[in-house]
Amino acid sequence: RVRVRFAPSPTGIFHVGGARSALFNWLVALRAGGDFVLRVEDTDASRNRPEWTDGIISALDWLGISPGRYEGPVLQSSRAQAHRDAAARLQQAGLAYFCDCTRELLAERTGNPQRGYDGHCRDRGLTAGPGRALRFRTPDEGVTVVRDLIRGEPQFANDTLEDFVIARADGSAVFLLANVVDDLEMGITHVIRGEEHLPNTPKQQLLWAALGAPEPPVWAHVPVIVNEKRQKLSKRRDKVALESYRNEGYLPAAMKNYLMLLGWAPPGDQEIVAWETIETTFDLADVKPSPAFFDEKKLRAFNGEYIRALTVDEFAAAVRPWLSAPAAPWPADAFDPKVFAAVAELAQSRLSVLAEIVPMVDFLFLPEAPVDDAAWAKAMKGPAAALLADVHEHFGTVSWTADALKSALLEIGERHGLKLAKAQAPVRVAVTGRSVGLPLFESLELLGRDATRDRLATARA
Ligand code: GLU
Repeated sequence: RVRVRFAPSPTGIFHVGGARSALFNWLVALRAGGDFVLRVEDTDASRNRPEWTDGIISALDWLGISPGRYEGPVLQSSRAQAHRDAAARLQQAGLAYFCDCTRELLAERTGNPQRGYDGHCRDRGLTAGPGRALRFRTPDEGVTVVRDLIRGEPQFANDTLEDFVIARADGSAVFLLANVVDDLEMGITHVIRGEEHLPNTPKQQLLWAALGAPEPPVWAHVPVIVNEKRQKLSKRRDKVALESYRNEGYLPAAMKNYLMLLGWAPPGDQEIVAWETIETTFDLADVKPSPAFFDEKKLRAFNGEYIRALTVDEFAAAVRPWLSAPAAPWPADAFDPKVFAAVAELAQSRLSVLAEIVPMVDFLFLPEAPVDDAAWAKAMKGPAAALLADVHEHFGTVSWTADALKSALLEIGERHGLKLAKAQAPVRVAVTGRSVGLPLFESLELLGRDATRDRLATARA
């Protein structure tokens, strides 16, 4: 039975790369009718925080990997004794040995601490004691061949693998060992994780064998994700937190679809495909090993497509969190669902991310037009002031429909030597506070004569 796991370390924000690994694991389990285990690798007490774990669980939930649909979460810290036991077994079997070499001593001997451990304590027969770490004895010859569904069969000469530490002087296991012990004891069959772990894999595969596993798991190292400069995505430089995307109003369906393309492509020439299609066609063997470019612009475009594919009711439900407190900038009782319903469809066709709904409709619910200085400076030039005065006057009597307003402005504009588009710009800024937005005349009709004229009057002043 196929058993996969997603094993994040709760040491920070949940990264889009983690989300992609989780989805790949999820789909492998789903397609094979197997199990997905969430294991939270929380053994580095100095860097973990419980809220990061909560963040992982809720981010996965947002992606449809919901509690109750998987095994766990298992906290790795709860398995510390199993890790210690495994370390002890390896030591008793002669497969690991105690070592008291400090980094400084090693550097003195080899002249180069980067070169790895020189095997000094291999045959000294040290027993456990303060300052003594446990090292795994790697083979001196032969090669370790890793069977990787994405990368073929990378080979590692064993003499390049140093005798690495598996337990600290206090007896606690390090990542390399704890991770293997858990995978082994949890019956994991496929280890699907980021490419950055590939250098660990030969060491871990040796541990699998040393711990008595008849065979290693199937490995799959998913490609690194890079930005437009081909640099590995980093949380200092790039927007990598899944939560940022959620807060800006990316739809989970769009996000999931986009994340899947980081290394994989659906059959056919369409990139935007139903999740059901992905569920029935995803295969790790089709994942490409080359770096995957995270293209935020493309993701935005995807999201716009997904937004437009919603029904108006679904759209209204999706934007609701942005239209109510605490996100909305207008007083709670100012929001009028009927007014919103009248522009919902127009807004839906214009949004790339849901958060953009606020600057698009705020003029309808704020007591005054918001002021965007840059837009103002650009629109209020030349004949603008005189035009606005004229518009203010005419809008006092014109019949209040979008069509009539448009004809009126067309005519007034002509008198000032302005084409309709040029005449619209100052009116739009004066009334909505923005240089772009919903169709102007529908907006004015909805806002009403008095509010519109008040704003035109204020703009002139
Ligand atoms: N906790 C490790 C990480 O987040 C897990 C690596 C693995 O999946 O084996 O990088």
